[in-house]
Amino acid sequence: MKKVVVFSQIDQDVLAQLQQDYRVVVLNPKLGDINDQIRTEVVDADAMIGAGRLLNESNLAPAQKLKIISTVSVGYDNYDVSYLNQKKIWLANTPHVLTETTADLAFTLLLSAARKVPYLDAWTKQGQWKRTVSTEQFGMDVFGKTLGIIGLGNIGAAIARRGFYGFNMNILYHNRREKIEVAQAFNAQYRDLDQLLQQSDFIVVAVDLNHESQALIGAEQFDLMQKHAVFVNIARGSVVDEDALIEALKQNKIFAAGLDVYAKEPLQNSALFELPNAVTLPHIGSATTETRQKMVKLAYQNLVAALQDRTPHYLVNPKFE
Ligand code: NAP
Repeated sequence: MKKVVVFSQIDQDVLAQLQQDYRVVVLNPKLGDINDQIRTEVVDADAMIGAGRLLNESNLAPAQKLKIISTVSVGYDNYDVSYLNQKKIWLANTPHVLTETTADLAFTLLLSAARKVPYLDAWTKQGQWKRTVSTEQFGMDVFGKTLGIIGLGNIGAAIARRGFYGFNMNILYHNRREKIEVAQAFNAQYRDLDQLLQQSDFIVVAVDLNHESQALIGAEQFDLMQKHAVFVNIARGSVVDEDALIEALKQNKIFAAGLDVYAKEPLQNSALFELPNAVTLPHIGSATTETRQKMVKLAYQNLVAALQDRTPHYLVNPKFE
């Protein structure tokens, strides 16, 4: 019987389905160091499924016959793809099914930061609403403003659609390659990064994390933004220099930030917690019941396809290159 290692919590129905057909080992952080468990269990494993763990030579080296790692995510920066290529291990991911939900969250952050929603929610509950609100509680308009999207991929395009049709926004975008057809649908104008930062009222980062997007936004980039700009990051924490962001927020170089992702997660004891103009969410871009079920189902299908000697639909490294 083929062996499957489950390296994070997954949906119970999918787990039960796996257990019907395969020998399944579920790793459990309560039973000791997770990397030690991976090194032990991967030796004779055929497949792995899960999310949120760094998998690379340090824990995968003992693998003898691992055919596929099926990640329950679209982002795959936790995996050392060049090492997987060397070992001829497929990496499958779950694009598309989380696009709309993650775009919804980007807009949740954008609106929350613009209208100071978490601050005013706490303020109201603390009984501070004693007379009509004053300028300190005022937010900024969203409708009709300029939205700059960095990374016009699947999620970036879904964010653009919301801005264009829902909020009559003027859409700018930056991408390594121009996306002429996608951009046409939202009348989105291409800008180089500096121009986008200078001209946008709202800036949303939706790139994948790669060598070029690592630390793409730092002090120099925050200096280019408008004083009233709202900055949103739903991509990956490492795309942004978090210290520079904190300084920009502290010094009111920008109006506010809406964040779902951080350099180090889970976020603990951060200076961001002290800043009323930072909206901080715990990496929940795709975290709705329906979307997570779709993601794990797709990850399951990718895994089963590989174990049945078929090519999964969504491979990051189909040809190991
Ligand atoms: P995608 O379709 O691959 O889009 C990524 C876009 O970023 C592409 O258009 C890519 O185009 C562009 N890009 C990459 N590097 C760039 C750079 N240095 N400068 C400018 N543009 C760059 O992926 P997606 O499905 O939209 O997902 C995007 C990312 O969002 C994922 O990789 C993941 O990290 C993150 N995400 C987060 C959550 C969450 O829970 N917060 C949920 C889902 C996804 P070019 O390569 O042509 O430049």
